[in-house]
Amino acid sequence: MAVTERILVVDVGTSSVRASVFDRDGVTVTAAERELLPDSPADGLVEFDACAMADTCMGLARSALEVAGPVAGVGITNQRGSAILWDRVTGEPVGPGLGWQDLRTVGACLALRAEGLKLGPNQSATKVQWLLDQLPERGAGRDLAFGTVDTWVAWTLSSGAVHVIDATNAAITGLQRSTRPDEWDAPTLAQLGVAPELLPAIVDSCAVVGEARALPGEPPIVALIGDQQASLVGQGCVRAGDAKITFGTGGMLDVVRGEQAPEVGTRGKAGTFPIVAWRERGRVTWGAEAIMLAAGTNVQWLRDELGIIPSSDASADVAAQCPDTGGVVFVPAPLGLGTPAWDYGARGALFGLTRGSGRPEIVRAVLEGVAHRGADLVDAAEADTNIAIAALRVDGGMTDNPVFVQALADASQRPVEISPVREATSLGAALMAGVTLGHHSSVGSLATTWSPRARVEPGAPLDRDRWREAVSRSRGWIPELSGVEL
Ligand code: ADP
Repeated sequence: MAVTERILVVDVGTSSVRASVFDRDGVTVTAAERELLPDSPADGLVEFDACAMADTCMGLARSALEVAGPVAGVGITNQRGSAILWDRVTGEPVGPGLGWQDLRTVGACLALRAEGLKLGPNQSATKVQWLLDQLPERGAGRDLAFGTVDTWVAWTLSSGAVHVIDATNAAITGLQRSTRPDEWDAPTLAQLGVAPELLPAIVDSCAVVGEARALPGEPPIVALIGDQQASLVGQGCVRAGDAKITFGTGGMLDVVRGEQAPEVGTRGKAGTFPIVAWRERGRVTWGAEAIMLAAGTNVQWLRDELGIIPSSDASADVAAQCPDTGGVVFVPAPLGLGTPAWDYGARGALFGLTRGSGRPEIVRAVLEGVAHRGADLVDAAEADTNIAIAALRVDGGMTDNPVFVQALADASQRPVEISPVREATSLGAALMAGVTLGHHSSVGSLATTWSPRARVEPGAPLDRDRWREAVSRSRGWIPELSGVEL
């Protein structure tokens, strides 16, 4: 195979950056990761150093190319919803990078809601407004540029020649209308006081957008895509009804809808969000996303706070010591509940404890609780999209746990297919890059390139009625927070 068919992927997550080189078939040639944690200067504030992010990306990308040699193209995948504002002339950021979890604009979002503009604090829209508000005369007279993390990485790799955002990232900035995914929404920009000149050009998720001039060989940048969408594609989910759940610290279900735009542009009745799954040759494929605020976090809690398992891995063996939980039900809601309830005031709860409830029962109940949440996300996605989800593909740290994966199959009553790579995000960006480079004829053709590491069939169903009862009892625990509508 010609070495020039290789693809470099830069994957900027929330806590680390990864650079990998893949061959044409999606096999990893080399990969390196470096931790890059955001700062939290005060409760609710999450900032990152965009220069450090750029340096880390450059350093890892150069090292990867040293190991793997020249590449045919570069793909970028990224944490979504963050915001960076910089000076085009100097290339220097003005103000901190604002992470997607940053909550400083909650007040602004509530005020805008009263004016009829629905934005979430985890979208970029009010973050860019806040960054502008910090500048003398809101930056008047300066040549400023706004971007999400994909924009910033493309700008960095191209030495400032490229100012673009892909459609998956643009759609969740809050600066678009869902019916017009190809353009920025002028009334929203006007309301927020964001000049259109600040904004990047919206491009396809797979297309040549410029050259990575800062890298040896100046390979073309050929794919940009948000992390969850990359993971969707990286698990071969490209046809309507194909769905994946990533079980990392939190959990995210994404399902492919098709080319017809969703009727509702904001959160659906069942608590899912419309997303752009990808844009190819100007055509958008839509999807929906359902969110679990805490997944592996609950396993960390067993390990670090309760100390009843020595490692996350050990949760499988400990849970396997009992055939069932003996009636114990755990609701994994340390941060409240996302889809479908969106109740920030719900809290974690253990029900049904008896004198006989031991370590195995409690560990199993925690794994089953996360599995039930996974099934809740499937139900919500089906309800909001009217599309049947026949099977689930899964990646992320928790999918190494056979007890958990079986519980997910049992709770959802669907076969579960485990990703051959622990995290499919970088692979998805490589596959998108491969589409641009002609290694694959279209995103749709990627359906046939994927096969799971293992497939787990559903067994006896878990008791979903009992679970729903437990969830309803865990809700509204902190009424002030349950009343917050974000
Ligand atoms: P992220 O990308 O969000 O940092 P990962 O996909 O690396 O997360 O997954 C890490 C999470 O998965 C941690 O919360 C960890 O406790 C959990 N985890 C890892 N291995 C296992 C396992 N074998 N069983 C259960 N949970 C696990």
